Amino acid sequence: MFEKILIANRGEIACRVIRTARALGIWAVAVHSDADRDARHVRMADQAVAIGTDAARRPYLDIGAILDAARRTGAQAIHPGYGFLSENAEFADACARSGIAFIGPPAEAIRAMGSKDAAKAMMERAGVPVTPGYHGADQDAALLAEQAARIGYPVLIKASAGGGGKGMRRVDRPADFAGALASCRREAAAAFGDDRVLVEKYIERPRHIEFQVFGDSHGNYVHLFERDCSVQRRHQKILEEAPAPGMTAQRRASMGHAAVEAARAVGYVGAGTVEFIVRPDGEFYFMEMNTRLQVEHPVTEMITGLDLVEWQLRIAAGQALPLPQEAIPLRGHALEARIYAEDPDKDFLPSTGMLRRLAEPRTGPDVRVDSGVEQGDAITPHYDPMIAKLIVRGDDRPQALARMRQALAQYRIAGVANNVDFLSRLVATPAFAQGDIDTGLIEREAALLFAPRQPPEEAWLAVALAEVLRARAAASPLRRSPWEPHDGWRLNGPAERRMRLRHGGSERAVLVRTAEAGYELELDGRTIAARGELDSQGELSATLGADTFRTTVLAEGSDRLVFLAGRTWRLADAESLPGWTGGDEAPGGLSAPMPGKVLAVLAEPGRLVEPGQPLLILEAMKMEHAVAAPRRGKVVAFRVAPGDLVAEGDELVDFETEPA
Ligand code: ADP
Repeated sequence: MFEKILIANRGEIACRVIRTARALGIWAVAVHSDADRDARHVRMADQAVAIGTDAARRPYLDIGAILDAARRTGAQAIHPGYGFLSENAEFADACARSGIAFIGPPAEAIRAMGSKDAAKAMMERAGVPVTPGYHGADQDAALLAEQAARIGYPVLIKASAGGGGKGMRRVDRPADFAGALASCRREAAAAFGDDRVLVEKYIERPRHIEFQVFGDSHGNYVHLFERDCSVQRRHQKILEEAPAPGMTAQRRASMGHAAVEAARAVGYVGAGTVEFIVRPDGEFYFMEMNTRLQVEHPVTEMITGLDLVEWQLRIAAGQALPLPQEAIPLRGHALEARIYAEDPDKDFLPSTGMLRRLAEPRTGPDVRVDSGVEQGDAITPHYDPMIAKLIVRGDDRPQALARMRQALAQYRIAGVANNVDFLSRLVATPAFAQGDIDTGLIEREAALLFAPRQPPEEAWLAVALAEVLRARAAASPLRRSPWEPHDGWRLNGPAERRMRLRHGGSERAVLVRTAEAGYELELDGRTIAARGELDSQGELSATLGADTFRTTVLAEGSDRLVFLAGRTWRLADAESLPGWTGGDEAPGGLSAPMPGKVLAVLAEPGRLVEPGQPLLILEAMKMEHAVAAPRRGKVVAFRVAPGDLVAEGDELVDFETEPA
């Protein structure tokens, strides 16, 4: 086994790999960009090497600098994580040339699976079912149209070099084929520098089911069952689970066999994932193979009790597979939810800012949190906006689901928009609860998921109560703080205060009076006796009438976030409640944080924008990034237009701050 490894990645996956290295007594070396100097993976590692003064992604893609760091620190192997260099065949080759083990498959296997058309042709030869389609070299438009007619409409045109759901077009009628082909080619050429396409049958209401496979350097192959990743937004996974709901032993055996044959066909070594698209009748087709550890690997770990990173390390060190197929256990059901800094109400637009508050659910044998950030860290536009992965296990799916709901309800995040509330709603939909899932679930349930929602009465009352408790604490001479009430609330004066709060279009006033044993709150003409205790973290124990409950009330500027039973309510202040946490600005300037392409401009020059409001969308490395207004002000002019390619540091917007 290795004595020291280097992790060529960042964030939660770097932390995840370090954890296993430590458990096995292996020294872990981190590498980091300038921006990540104090990142969690750097703090966790035994040793860390700065690999570049560039703030953004480039250091993690710098093969020379990473190999240098490995040589200097004496690391014998490199774990690439996922993303970055994990599926880069040149990197795998360069490691081999330097005598450093690449913890991943042979470069040849990466190359073979790197192109959708070549991989499909190879799978067909290996007897693995492939979506009916055309993936030949001849790209003549008339021939492609003929092939579409042969396959039968609807068809899907896909960029051969595609990824991240880009360069895909569904076509329903022959008359639309030529136009769709042309636009798909344009998009593919712009995004991947390669305009070759393939045409395949469009599968209606499909499920995305993938198999975890492993091969060793002695010619052994196994699979570790399947994961269902059908719940997606923007063609990207958000909730994953294992096993797949409704999977039968017979179907698992035939899909598992196909997955293992796919791995065997490319002489695979290490951890890989074979992705299938599955029709409602259970018919399945090979989609692609990912030649690395997947983001969602923890659900497999939860049901098998195995450490997949440990398996990767053993295999890279030349050992045989730790277990034969029949000895791999499957116990219960696991779910993973990806916690993202993104705004579900704004088409899941990534959000940046400081994690002013990040409290995670209690973890234990059946609840796991894989995270690369801590409270006080920033979510920057440089990297993926994933905050954490929440993974739960149960003896069966209903128990796992119940644990997921509870764990989501314990999350407290403030400072960035996030999808925790959305995930709570999603797992509560009857369709998801019944395991009735396919890739269209979120769109189909939109009416339920995005319906306008009204906060319950306790939310309004809890905000008002927290406000007076905080004002009282602030007024105490021993605990001066910047939370001074500004509207005449005095300890010994006419102790009455009216607060006007807003949620969406509705506004309500809460009248607060001091009473003998606490306060009286008046809402819509009803008076409720209230008392409570509030700590400095915003944890509130509130008694309203006869009921006592615990909640959290946090400030974001003059907004208040209330966390109640898995839901987060944002109540805005209709007057101007004082900000509790100071007014730091959202990080992120108005220059391009990385090389990329401008997808859209969202603001109108001359119009006033609020801090944090997205001004334009930049696409880089499969990800879309919003460049947001740093302050209240206005865009004087955009220096770029949709479609423009920009270099890192290019000025994007002339911005004028609104005088205070
Ligand atoms: P990418 O590499 O761009 O992520 P994939 O080929 O992996 O593209 O497909 C991404 C998603 O697109 C799948 O998970 C599925 O939801 C959908 N998809 C792919 N192929 C088909 C198809 N033939 N019919 C319907 N949906 C498809």
